[in-house]
Amino acid sequence: MTGRIGVLTGAGISTDSGIPDYRGPSGVWTRDPELAALFTRKHFANDAEVRRRFWRTLDLHRDARPNAAHRALADLEKTKAVRILTQNVDGLHQKAGSTPRKVLELHGTLATTSCTRCRATSATADVLARGEDDPACPSCGGVLQPSIVLFGQYLDSDTLSLAGNIARASEVFIAIGSSLTVDPAARLCAIAAECGARLIIVNRDPTPYDDLADEVIRTPIAEAVPALCAELAAV
Ligand code: ZN
Repeated sequence: MTGRIGVLTGAGISTDSGIPDYRGPSGVWTRDPELAALFTRKHFANDAEVRRRFWRTLDLHRDARPNAAHRALADLEKTKAVRILTQNVDGLHQKAGSTPRKVLELHGTLATTSCTRCRATSATADVLARGEDDPACPSCGGVLQPSIVLFGQYLDSDTLSLAGNIARASEVFIAIGSSLTVDPAARLCAIAAECGARLIIVNRDPTPYDDLADEVIRTPIAEAVPALCAELAAV
C-alpha cells in the first residue's frame, strides 16, 4: 500500500493542452531571451507595451482545457493521498478536478489579478472580459498584475516551506514535465529523495536528477501519467 504521493508538475504537463513551454530547452523564453527580459516586475509596472503583450498572450490560453495527465492525477485522489506542487500558473489541475487546497501553486496563478497600487483583487476572467488591451484597476486606475511570480520576484516563503514539508512527507515523489534545472523544483526532488521517497521522473528530456531517480519515464506525458497513476492506484 503506497501512502502519500507528492507530485511536482512543470510546463511539460500542459503543452498537450496547447500552452507553450516558456522556460524549457525549446521554450518561448529560451529561444527569445529578450522577450523573457520584458516580463519582469519593473517592465510590467512601467511599460504599457509589455502589459499589452502579456494580456494578448494570456487571452490566447483562456480556453485551455486539462488533458489526460491532469485528469489522471485528479482521479488518483480518490484512492491515494495526493499533493500537487506545480510550477504552472494555468489552473489546469483544479479544472481537471484536483481539490484546490491540495494543489500548491509555486509560481502563483493566472486565475486572479490584483492592483499593484490598492491591492484590490479580482478574477482574471472578469478583467479579460472587459476586452481592453491594457486594463487598469477600476477603483484607483493602478496597474493590474495577475497573481503570478514574474522574473525578478521572489517566491512566497510560506508556500516554499509547505512545499518542502510535502516533499519530506512523500513516500512516492513524481516529477512530471519539469527540466528540474531551476529551484525550487530541483531542490524539492533532492529533499524527497534524501527523505527516502521513491523518486519517479517523467520528462521527455534528461534531467540532472535522473541518476537519483528510481524510475525515469520518457514516453509522452499524456500517455505515461495515466499509466503510472493506474499502477499507483493498484498498490
Ligand atoms: Zn487599484
